Amino acid sequence: MCPVSKTVKCPTCGKPVVWGPESPWRPFCSERCKLIDLGEWASEGHRIPGEETLPEEFIEQENRRKH
Ligand SMILES: [Zn+2]
Repeated sequence: MCPVSKTVKCPTCGKPVVWGPESPWRPFCSERCKLIDLGEWASEGHRIPGEETLPEEFIEQENRRKH
């Protein structure tokens, strides 16, 4: 068995990335791909809290009914 450097696929562009010190942005192939992925994750996370604030209006209505 000869030592084979492990490679992973960049989650953003799918390019093979060597899993080692020569790839500081692993599992991404570059800083750009890492920032693109983080940006998509952040925009997705923004949508969830926005939806969670909607039920607060329903709770307010429920309290008014009780009074
Ligand atoms: Zn990439």
